[in-house]
Formats: sequence, structure tokens, C-alpha cells
Amino acid sequence: MQITIPGFPRIGKNRELKFITEKFFKKEINEKVYLNEIKKINQENISIMKKYLDLIPANDFSLYDNILDLMWALGVVEKKYLDNKLSYLEKYFAIARGIKEKNIDLLPYDMKKWFNTNYHFIVPKINNDLSLKTDFFFLEKNINTAKEIINDFKVVLIGPYTFIKLAKMEKENQKINERIIQNYIKLLKRIIELKVKNIQLDEPSICLDSNKRDINLFKNIYSEVLKEKKDSKIFIQTYFSCIDEKFIPQINKLNIDGLGLDFIEGKENLKFVKRLDLNNKFLIAGVVNGKNIWINNYKNSIEILRLILKNVKKENIMLSTHSSLLFVPYTKRNETKIPNEMLKFLSFAEEKMQELKDLKNLLQENNLSQNKIYQNNQKIIDSLIKLTQLELKQNFVLSFKIKDLNRKSNIAKRKKIQEKFLKLPILPTTTIGSFPQTVDVRIKRKDFKEGKITHEQYKNFIKEKINDLIKFQEEIKLDILVHGEFERNDMVEYFAENLQGFIITNNGWVQSYGTRTTKPPIIFSCVKRKYPITVEYITYAQSLTQKPVKAILTGPITIINWSFPNEFLKIKSIAFSIAQALREEINDLVKNGIKIIQVDEPALREKLPLKKQKQKEYLDIAINAFKYCVKDVPDEIQIHTHMCYSEFKDIINCIEKMDVDVISIEASRSDFSILKHLKNYAKKRQIGPGIYDVHSTRVPDVNELIEKIKILMKIIDYKNLWINPDCGLKTRNWDETKQSLKNMVEAKENILKSKNYFK
Ligand code: GLN
Ligand code: ZN
Repeated sequence: MQITIPGFPRIGKNRELKFITEKFFKKEINEKVYLNEIKKINQENISIMKKYLDLIPANDFSLYDNILDLMWALGVVEKKYLDNKLSYLEKYFAIARGIKEKNIDLLPYDMKKWFNTNYHFIVPKINNDLSLKTDFFFLEKNINTAKEIINDFKVVLIGPYTFIKLAKMEKENQKINERIIQNYIKLLKRIIELKVKNIQLDEPSICLDSNKRDINLFKNIYSEVLKEKKDSKIFIQTYFSCIDEKFIPQINKLNIDGLGLDFIEGKENLKFVKRLDLNNKFLIAGVVNGKNIWINNYKNSIEILRLILKNVKKENIMLSTHSSLLFVPYTKRNETKIPNEMLKFLSFAEEKMQELKDLKNLLQENNLSQNKIYQNNQKIIDSLIKLTQLELKQNFVLSFKIKDLNRKSNIAKRKKIQEKFLKLPILPTTTIGSFPQTVDVRIKRKDFKEGKITHEQYKNFIKEKINDLIKFQEEIKLDILVHGEFERNDMVEYFAENLQGFIITNNGWVQSYGTRTTKPPIIFSCVKRKYPITVEYITYAQSLTQKPVKAILTGPITIINWSFPNEFLKIKSIAFSIAQALREEINDLVKNGIKIIQVDEPALREKLPLKKQKQKEYLDIAINAFKYCVKDVPDEIQIHTHMCYSEFKDIINCIEKMDVDVISIEASRSDFSILKHLKNYAKKRQIGPGIYDVHSTRVPDVNELIEKIKILMKIIDYKNLWINPDCGLKTRNWDETKQSLKNMVEAKENILKSKNYFK
């Protein structure tokens, strides 16, 4: 029985990938030095895996994103990104980040969240402008890097079916798709030429609800792709749910050597094992959770494995995590601040590989209960369950009726009341909350955490920042101001630090996209508010201006989805305990004169189960927890929410049910294509589709923004339209921020001048 994983974190033990790549972006190092450093990170990752795994993934590594790498390899890149004077790597990064220099002006490609995770991938576009020239530079680099350390490994690729399914078809063109598949075959041929013996094709898309066309597409693609396979072994890897059973007959016909199944999020796969033809194939059994950080319950895993063993020969099983470990931090060994009695409950990427090793040994064991490792594991699990149940008893009891969650009046009535109360101008301009987190802010926070400055000194520093920001926003004539979120390192971690029930790691970083990382807090119990959290800074900001200051809070589902929630607690209990804490906070804000409150839910869609059948339960929790936060708020108080990188079309009903007064959404990167799904929504409710992309360093000019507003006004009644960037400005620098916002306000003023838009 072998041990493997579908993929490993790429960022390095201490986020080396992030730092070195950012250095390269700032042109502090050249391409050669950069690629050399990158290689070291990749090799260090492989060396760690080597300690635990029999079959090591290679090419799961990437400078930025592995979908982008596949686009690059297949030439699924628009020609204009390649036919220009940029250097090789500049071209590659321009796809992800956009560029506006050297007389070149390229927009970044769209980004989307990778299934039900917080990892964002670059969305391939399929249209008539593609280069379709293959380029295996990154692939060969990864293969050669692996070869220097290990003989045998598996090359990981996003599978052709998932790639095509995720691509945005701007032109439904059978011929282009065929050429992409031909390029995919070339890619496989090249890998085989390089004497790679194992290839893993990630096909999570076969876990989505599928129709006949999908099954046919899958069948057609694979009948082509597997032709050239020769002696190499090809594994199809699935994750994030059970496979859609309609694929079973197809999979059984395929000439593949292994199938990776998820037994964590896709327990139903157990039923399918019997029906899948696994006689001469490996079953890569995902029994350790690749997305959460709680230790594995060996008893459960052994039970699952024993059930599998009834149908699959032992030598045909590979033990694995259920997904890539990309979604968990590197190792818990660096966590010096978490007390041992908590640390023992946790398991990060490196520890998860040890768990796989343990499981392999335990499966050999006849008398499990006598085994020390098993005993110890059960002891820890028991104490975790006890602790959790104690918490549940002491803590939160749910007692409300759904109709108690509604605000006093309906949206139409509230709108009228708020118009009188707030007297906002037409096309109100605002931002999403955060402003640049510059080095001085981060240094001061660090000084405060290390005790070098007092709390008072730190608070005064933040207030100075707020002061400056209020002045700036007034100067450029924004209508609805914010306090800037300078006190927040991260929109979730900040609340986690100030609420009871969380553990904060000091090095638990995970990649969210490219060089961006987040440090999800750990929710070990139900949550409670200990004291008011945001009231002081926000009321301070409001005291400095006549214009309304919009308070910004992070919503319950986003807090959960960007944390690692205790697996022994129901998500519902955690969600409502957070909602209760936020409700107390919101009521305090209102008491203190705040008139507009935004509860951010950018991660609302994130953990939406892949299968439709399971989505309602999840969405009900998300909606009701949100409504619970704002249920006491009087009609004149305007409630906003903000969402980004979501497939809004899946959750539009849900957004409607949240019954907010104003929603701001990320839309600029996808060319407003999502607006068609929000058109109806915007008939009754106000909406601010972000008019420029804050994740790009590119500053939009006035004309471009005027054009955007014009497009919006064609779709949305101007009376319901807000003007704002598409997300927080935290990661931008001040120059970019000032210029973009000035242009935004100027664009709006320009529009106001030409009355013919307001007919
Ligand atoms: N209010 C947050 C900010 O501006 C929202 C961030 C987000 O949507 N991820 O940073
Ligand atoms: Zn956002």
C-alpha cells in the first residue's frame, strides 16, 4: 500500500514564494535569480514530501497559479499577451495581473474561486484570439527540478475535462476546443518523452451535477487524450465531493491506471466503490481531510478503509488526503504560541502526511486497541469531543423563528425612509472599506503586538490614520466615507482576535491567489463577544465629518469560511454564535449614531456544496445568520453587504433573501457579464457593481470609467446605482489608490453633467 497526496502547499515554509515573487515584481531581482530562488523553494517542498510519501506530486508547484500554467502550456492565451515587447516572465504575469507600462496596456484575466475553496484561479477564455502555440517551459522546469531529487514522481495537471468546463467560452467553437485537446495530447506526449511514469489528471468537475452533454464531452475528450498514453500510468483525481454517478460507466470504460476518490466531503463515494471497476486500477483513497486542520480520527479512517478493502485489493489502494494540501498551512511545528493542550488537536500539511503513514501502519495491525499510536489518537479525539460538547452546553442555544429575522419594513418602504434620513446624492460614490495597508501601519501593529508601544499609543496612531483618510475622502468628494480598516491585519483575523472562541496561529499561512496569502484563524468553540470591537474607531471617524461614515464588519459565514471551524461543532451553531456577537456590535454602532453599516460576505458562496441537493441547507444557514446580525436595526439605518469572486448566478436567490438595502459586488474583472443575473435584483434594490479592479496595479482612466458607468446605466436604473471600486483597497499603494478614486469621482461628475443619461 502506497502513500501519496494530490498536491502540496506551494508557498514554502515561511512564505518564501510570496516574498521572492514580490521582489521580482518590484524589479529588485532579475529573472535568472528569481527562477533560481523559485527552484530552491520547489526542491525544499519535494524534500519534505520525500520523508513521508511513496508517490510525490510534481508540477503541482507554480509561480502563480496552476491553471494559468496549463493555459500557458496549451497556448490558451490571447495573442496580445504574447506578441509584445515584454520579457518572458512579464508576459506570463501580465495574464494574471495586467500591465500598463512600456506602452502596453493589458487587462488581467478574470479570477474565480476554485470550487468550494478560497483559492482563486485564473479563468481561461476561449475565443478566436488565442495563440494556441504550446509552450512547456514551466512544466519542464518543474519536471527537471523534481528529477534532481527523486527518480519517481507523478506529474500533476488539471485534467482536460475540468479545464474546458472551467473556461469561459466567449465563442462556442468546436474547432478551437478540438485544437486545445490536440495541444493537451502534445503536452502529455512531452511528459511521457521526459520519461515520467505517472500522471495525475485533476478532474474535480466530474463531481458536479452533470447532464448528458457533459458526459459526452468527457467521453470524447478522454477517448482522444488516452490514445498516446503508452507505458505511463494515468490517474484521474477527483475531490471536493463524490463523483456524479452518471460518470461511473464512462470511467469504467477508460484505460486509466487509477482513480482518486474523496471520502471526506464525498462519503457517498463508498457506495460507488462496488460499481467502479477497480480490478486493475489503483484507488487513491482520500481519507485524511486536505482542507481542514483538525487531527484525523484514526478510528473513522480505518473503518472507511476496511469497507473499501471489501471491494478493492490491498495492493491496489493508495492512501491519500482527500484533496491537495494547498488549502492548509505548511507545518504546525512553527506554532510556538499555541498551548500544547490545543496544539495536539491540530494537523497541518506536514503532519497530515505523517497521519497517512500512521494509518498505513495501523491497517497492518491486528489488535488496534493495544497500539500506542492508535490509543493516543483516540485519547486526543475523545478530549476534543468532550471539550466541544461542554462548550455546546454552556454556550449557544438557538431560539428564534425565521420570521423574527425580518427587518421591520420591506425594502420599498425602507428605501423611502432612508432617502429622507440619509439624503444621499444620485450615483453615490463610496469604497468597500479598506485603504492601503502601508508598511508604517504594519510596523506599528507589530510594535504594539510585541509590546514596544502601548495600546494607547497604537490607538492614537490608528486615529491619526483615520484623520488623514477622512480628510482625503472629503477632498476628493466621495459621498459615503469609511474609516479605512487600518486596525485590521485581515478582515477575519481581526474579529477572531477580538472574539472569544478562536485560536490564532502565527505562521498558519495559506495561498489565496498568486502571492496573496491568508492566515485563517481556528474556531475551536462557539463564539462570544467580550467587548465592543469596532465602535471606538468608527464613531471616531464619524465625529470628524458631516458625511455619513459607513461601518464595516465581517459577516458570520465569511468568518467561518475563512477560518478552520471545529469539525465536532455544527456549522449552524457556530454561525449563529458569531451572528449573535455581530448583532451586539451592530446594535452598539447604531446606538452611537452610525447610519450605514456594511456586513461583508465575500465568502458567502465559497463553501456552497458542489451538489445542488445539498446547497439549500448551507444557504439557509448563511442567509439566516446574516439576517440575525441586522434584525434589530431600525428602518432608517442602511444595511449594505459586499461580495466578490462569486458565481453570483448560483446564489442570486440567496442574495435576494438577505434583504439588504445596498450590495456592492466585484464585477469589473468579468466585464460586467454577471450583471445579466442581477438585473432583476436591481429593479428593487440598490447595487454597486465595482467599476474597476482593485487587484490590479493598473490605474483606470476617467474615460474608461465613464464608459463603465454608461454600460451600467443601461442595465440598472440610475436611482439604484452606486459607484465604487470592486473590492477593498488594502493591497494597493497610495498613488494608485488616489489616482483611481479621483478618476472614479471625476467620471461620475462627468456623467452627471450630461443630463441625457437620466431619462
Ligand atoms: N471590507 C473589506 C475590505 O475592504 C472587504 C474585503 C473583501 O471583500 N475581501 O478590505
Ligand atoms: Zn471584495
